[in-house]
Amino acid sequence: MSLTAQGEAIASPLGVVLDVSDHALQRAQHRFIAGTHTQSGWADRTRWTVLEAGFGFGLNFLATWQAWREDPARPQQLHYVAIEPHPFHLDDLVRLHAYFSTLHALSARLRSVWPMQVSGTHRLHVDNQRVTLTLVFANAQSAAPELRVQADAVYLNGHAPEKDPQMWTPNVLRRFVHLCTPDAWLASHCVDPSVVAALRAAGCAVEQQTGHRHTASRLQAQRIASRSSRPVMIAPPPQRSVAIVGAGLAGAAVSARLAARGWKVTLIDQHAALAQGASGNLAGIFHPMVTRDDSVMARLTRAAFLYGLQLWSQLPQVRWSACGVLQMARHADEACAQRAAIAECHFPENYVRFVQANERPTPHSAPSHVAGLWFAQAGWLCPTSLTHALTRHPNIQTRLHGTVASMQRVSNVWRLFDPHGALIVEAPHVVLANAADIHRLLPNPGFTLQHSRGQVSYVPAHTLPQRDHVLLRGTMLLPAIDGQCVLGATYDLNDLDTTTRAESHAENLSHLTRLLPTHTTALDPTTLSGRAGVRCVSVDRLPLLGGAIDRVRMHAEAEHVIQSGVVPRIPGLHIATGYASRGIVWNGLLAELLASELEAEPLPLEAHLVRALDPARFALRALRQQT
Ligand SMILES: Cc1cc2nc3c(=O)[nH]c(=O)nc-3n(C[C@H](O)[C@H](O)[C@H](O)COP(=O)(O)OP(=O)(O)OC[C@H]3O[C@@H](n4cnc5c(N)ncnc54)[C@H](O)[C@@H]3O)c2cc1C
Repeated sequence: MSLTAQGEAIASPLGVVLDVSDHALQRAQHRFIAGTHTQSGWADRTRWTVLEAGFGFGLNFLATWQAWREDPARPQQLHYVAIEPHPFHLDDLVRLHAYFSTLHALSARLRSVWPMQVSGTHRLHVDNQRVTLTLVFANAQSAAPELRVQADAVYLNGHAPEKDPQMWTPNVLRRFVHLCTPDAWLASHCVDPSVVAALRAAGCAVEQQTGHRHTASRLQAQRIASRSSRPVMIAPPPQRSVAIVGAGLAGAAVSARLAARGWKVTLIDQHAALAQGASGNLAGIFHPMVTRDDSVMARLTRAAFLYGLQLWSQLPQVRWSACGVLQMARHADEACAQRAAIAECHFPENYVRFVQANERPTPHSAPSHVAGLWFAQAGWLCPTSLTHALTRHPNIQTRLHGTVASMQRVSNVWRLFDPHGALIVEAPHVVLANAADIHRLLPNPGFTLQHSRGQVSYVPAHTLPQRDHVLLRGTMLLPAIDGQCVLGATYDLNDLDTTTRAESHAENLSHLTRLLPTHTTALDPTTLSGRAGVRCVSVDRLPLLGGAIDRVRMHAEAEHVIQSGVVPRIPGLHIATGYASRGIVWNGLLAELLASELEAEPLPLEAHLVRALDPARFALRALRQQT
């Protein structure tokens, strides 16, 4: 996208002239911040949530953020959820924001987290995580039904109806009204009679002001709460205290996201140190998945990968490298599928690009002997360093050597016991992040998990050709870390043995030729070191994240459950498991999702993706099939 500058007139991607004059900021303040009574509304609140349709170059966001910073009566947290079908490129933001001298500092902070131009939901944290921007790169018609947010103020800021009719349809406007808290205000520059009529039909009282030379036209609408309005999100829990079972990547990440929101966390693990289960390897890789139909897995891994990049760059203690991952095609058909996926999804090259056989992914790297996908910002990460960094928080207390053998809920409090029946801890909320051992504590959870043993080999780096990026072709080979290259891993279904085996090293070495066809290794597998662990895999290979289901009530209320899709849950019991071979990618975003659900904050993912992770999905499907 290029900008056309004619004096002060700059055009948007839809060819609409953007206002970057001195009055633009004042108009944003008058129309949207004052128009939604934001500053009087947030004065007695701990959190304020704005929903904006049409983020544009972010002027309303910057103005709201600035107003929030300058107001001594501001709420602790500002959530800003914005939809934008045509996101600006970072370079364009630099040029556009330059016109607003009072916003330079905030603009620089926004630009430091500005996401890649790929579709989906981007959760961004700024201002010490007190301001959360959730950017949805999609059109309003597809985004609106997928939003899970309870907005205190709505800015209807799209292009005029004749330029972008999709944004102003009665359905979309009704959905925005539905996403408001009772009595919330909506504001817009658009005073089109069809918009006024649609808002009135959706249950709003509407006022309009026509603009003159120095005043902006403004539409203000207030949602009139009706008794039948069902809230989109449930109210936050009163007691912010949680026991988390399992100190691997899943448990550590949930601990961090809840601790950041003020929860008191007790993190329990049976081992003597953190990350001694599947999360204990020297390093593993992270990269998104790309498919031609942009599948649920592709969209989920994209959102999680981008969130991870942002999170890890704010944690200096984490050992990781965005050195690039080359996902080499295993055969000609796969190369065709990869090329087709890239062509159909229109991803920017900094996200993924197709590399031909004999092409170099970067100017300094060796050519690849087969075609493949090049993920320039993917790479490797040391999971133990991440687990330690995530759990270093004053609100997190770690209890090691603590095997949770049973749990009981008494008077709204969960009590967790060790194998001798001694109480370990009690808390109103429990998160089971104990991988496959979840079945011990929750014998009938409504899903099954498979176990897959995996062993990685640590190959002395001097015995291999030097590479500065990750090679992946069924098996992975990482660049040297502390003089060793991680190679592997094996997939041994239903095998729970975590001792390392020479034959597993031999298997890993035998796969080296897939990656480096001209290399012959003289290594003796019996001399190699490595590590074995057990992956925990759900039937559809997606993680399980959300509230544990109450199977008794689910069956008793079967008809209602089938009709509404709302599954009864066991109060205070939550699940974070099934991270399979992608725990590094999954942990951050999924923890943010669970924390957002518990706090009734805007969710960082589209609703259909949240449903794809819900532990209730298998039981709900089975119930529907039975009837
Ligand atoms: C060989 C191998 C290679 C891998 N490579 C990669 C890779 O390259 N990239 C990637 O993204 N992922 C990779 N993975 C997958 C990744 O490691 C997992 O997805 C991730 O570690 C899962 O994290 P978790 O916290 O769910 O499980 P775990 O790390 O297993 O943590 C579960 C924790 O729960 C504790 N626990 C269990 N039961 C109890 C109980 N009753 N009481 C107290 N504590 C309990 C355990 O001690 C353990 O610490 C690999 C896995 C393996 C095995």
